[in-house]
Amino acid sequence: MGDVLKGCCACGQIHFTCRGAPKGAAVCHCGQCRKMSGHAWASAHVRREEFEIEGPIKWLRLSEKAERGICPDCGSFLFWVGAQDPEYISFALGAIDGPTGITLGRHIFVSDKADYYLLNDGLKQEG
Ligand SMILES: [Zn+2]
Ligand SMILES: [Zn+2]
Repeated sequence: MGDVLKGCCACGQIHFTCRGAPKGAAVCHCGQCRKMSGHAWASAHVRREEFEIEGPIKWLRLSEKAERGICPDCGSFLFWVGAQDPEYISFALGAIDGPTGITLGRHIFVSDKADYYLLNDGLKQEG
């Protein structure tokens, strides 16, 4: 790795730069990710110090477990920071510009999954 990943929200107001090697690429099927993204939410995480955000990000606290970063204008759901691991930040894989070089590893919160799609890609399923 060593490559820098860049991404932005749908309207281009929020930009991010990831300087670390993303880990834990996963699709979350929980109800909050479903509501916020319109489907399931794919993300990976890095150490917060390896990640820069530019723009007027809005942090939402929908539960005690985490804060979610969105663009206040276009509503793109970009970031997730767990209350128990604030030194890490998860970011939306779909917001990366250009090739990601990332491969999904697993599905999480599968028990919360909506019923309109199947998981048959062979990846590990948890939760
Ligand atoms: Zn935006
Ligand atoms: Zn989720």
